[in-house]
Amino acid sequence: ESEDAWRDVDAYFVDMLLVEDEALTAARESGHKTTMPRAEVAPNQGKLLAMLCQISGAARVLEFGTLAGYSTIWLARAVGEHGHVTSLELEEQNAAVARANLARAGVSDVVDIIVGPAAQSARRLIEQGAQPFDFVFIDADKPSNPEYLRASLALTAPGSVIVIDNVVRNGAVTDPESTDDRVRGVRTVLADIARDPRLDATALQTVGFKGWDGFTIIRRTR
Ligand code: SAM
Repeated sequence: ESEDAWRDVDAYFVDMLLVEDEALTAARESGHKTTMPRAEVAPNQGKLLAMLCQISGAARVLEFGTLAGYSTIWLARAVGEHGHVTSLELEEQNAAVARANLARAGVSDVVDIIVGPAAQSARRLIEQGAQPFDFVFIDADKPSNPEYLRASLALTAPGSVIVIDNVVRNGAVTDPESTDDRVRGVRTVLADIARDPRLDATALQTVGFKGWDGFTIIRRTR
């Protein structure tokens, strides 16, 4: 069956190319203590995020959706001790699990988790005149994607990179009649990206541990 083969290939790539240390493994396995078990990115996707940060030279990262801090650890390690990650999470329960994972990974000093609705937290960052972020990972509630993109544009400068997760949704993304708010959130944000002259983007489908889904990768050109 093709899904088994996808999983086997992911396992092979992860075995060959990635070192997931105890802290990352523990963060992944702590998912059951959160409100959304198994919702973290796959290991090879976490490493993709880290590499995109490194390739683009990002030092300041903004994340929408912390969960147990699995992707947050990849991002924090990518920016190093002189960088910073601000991660926005709705649920205190998840933030508490994430804080323990970040401490175990040795990146607590590099990460701030802001608990509350991400749209509100982002608005506060804008009002406070936060220094621009170089890299944004949008992975919270999908209906809010358009709002999170708008906030990201207020919080970044030209040259920044924005990644949005889960843009395929098992293929549902192509359905213009979809009544699923998550699908509509993806379709609206893609249309917003397409018509924004400041943004250049592509999207990739992915298969593997996490089934069939994909990323949008956006570069802010001006
Ligand atoms: N980025 C994480 C990773 O890969 O390890 C996974 C994030 S999980 C897919 C989505 C997270 O967004 C959950 O922890 C959920 O509680 C959070 N979330 C949902 N609605 C939110 C909101 N309105 N504001 C902030 N976070 C929210």
